[in-house]
Amino acid sequence: MILHGTSRINQWGHLEIGGCDTVYLAEKYGTPLIVYDEALIRERCRSFIQVLERAGVRYHVAYACKAFCTLAIVQLIDEEGLGLDVVSGGELYTALHAGFPPERIHFHGNNKSKEELEMAVDANIGAVVVDNFHEIDLLESILTFKRKRMNVLLRITPGIHASTHRYIQTGQEDSKFGFDLASGQVEMALDRVLSSQKFHFMGIHMHLGSQIFGEEGFIAAIDKIIQFIEKNESILPINVLNLGGGFGIRYVSEDDPKPLETVLGETVLHVKRSFASRKWPLPELWFEPGRSIVGEAGTTLYRVGSLKRVPGIRNYLAVDGGMSDNLRPALYQAKYEAMLANRANEKNEEEYAVAGKLCESGDILILNARLPHAHSGDLLAVSSTGAYGYSMANNYNRMPRPAVLFVKEGREKLVVRRERYEDLLLNELPLNDSLQQFVHSKE
Ligand SMILES: *Cc1c(COP(=O)(O)O)cnc(C)c1O
Repeated sequence: MILHGTSRINQWGHLEIGGCDTVYLAEKYGTPLIVYDEALIRERCRSFIQVLERAGVRYHVAYACKAFCTLAIVQLIDEEGLGLDVVSGGELYTALHAGFPPERIHFHGNNKSKEELEMAVDANIGAVVVDNFHEIDLLESILTFKRKRMNVLLRITPGIHASTHRYIQTGQEDSKFGFDLASGQVEMALDRVLSSQKFHFMGIHMHLGSQIFGEEGFIAAIDKIIQFIEKNESILPINVLNLGGGFGIRYVSEDDPKPLETVLGETVLHVKRSFASRKWPLPELWFEPGRSIVGEAGTTLYRVGSLKRVPGIRNYLAVDGGMSDNLRPALYQAKYEAMLANRANEKNEEEYAVAGKLCESGDILILNARLPHAHSGDLLAVSSTGAYGYSMANNYNRMPRPAVLFVKEGREKLVVRRERYEDLLLNELPLNDSLQQFVHSKE
């Protein structure tokens, strides 16, 4: 397992994160437990700023909070001075509740509802990234009713296949997101937005996909956008060019993303050169990293329960969580690595399929984990679970969602309490009153 950030093996042979012993954390808070290395999250925020400062461009970095959206992370992002990219009313609600400055929030999504758009307009958020013609009409009518204007960016699909899993590609033409560049939809959308008094056209947005390891896809997409602007020079000067997120991280040892300095640096350099050679003013460059801010900072701790040997075939090691706290392996065969956090110095001499406890054969967290000979009661740590883990957590099999900690300099801070069984019934109403009495008398 890769030791990211402040993760290390301490004098007792235990995995330690942010100066905290994970064996102690698991005992105190129970398992499954998601532990975030706070210093590493902050470092990742700063590395984006650093590269863009060095490039000498105007920029805005917004954390795509769908990767992990809670009050604590939103507040941390605010402290780091980044913006926030939300994709739903629930994320916007969380951001506003956390006190995040609305002018630094922008709103994405391919099917924003009337209520969500009203909420965004009422909160005076920084911008809406409009995705389709229905949304243009809807937002315009809301703005007319409320006598307001809104900054908008147009989301375009540049027709680029980023080299990544099919389910996490979004930049290709056959996508549910955005206005298609090749068919002329973008021009129609642009006309529509520019001709309305209700919109202030800010610029163009694109997002290629996720877990992208090099700058090539970004550069190809930028070339498409440049061609588009050449055909539509009347939109110059463009105030904002939003190139989305998708910067890759290391889940397993084979993952080899180029350093951010290279991917981001080369991408920015390409924009600068392309605009300069045409004597176009350089727009403000926006980026929306999600995974690369929080992914490697998260580690999930599980207690090992049952072990099953299928002779000659496979050893199964079952943990007390699974697809309820990490859906990614079941959803798109995502790969992870693990270690025994309580015996971190011991040699890996066995191969296990790490199975979750949910009633799905596909609930396998890791197909081939190299570990020491494991026992029931060992503590299993899975690294790089910080993005799209807790945010996709669910209550399948009525599993309560795990607790979440931030750790830093030997101190832990509980930022999400473990869900309790009674929380599972919070929104439920019994079919008849006798049951209600029964439920209440049991409490
Ligand atoms: C998901 C998403 C992001 C973030 O992607 P990561 O891979 O987490 O960096 C950014 N922008 C948009 C529009 C997205 O949909």
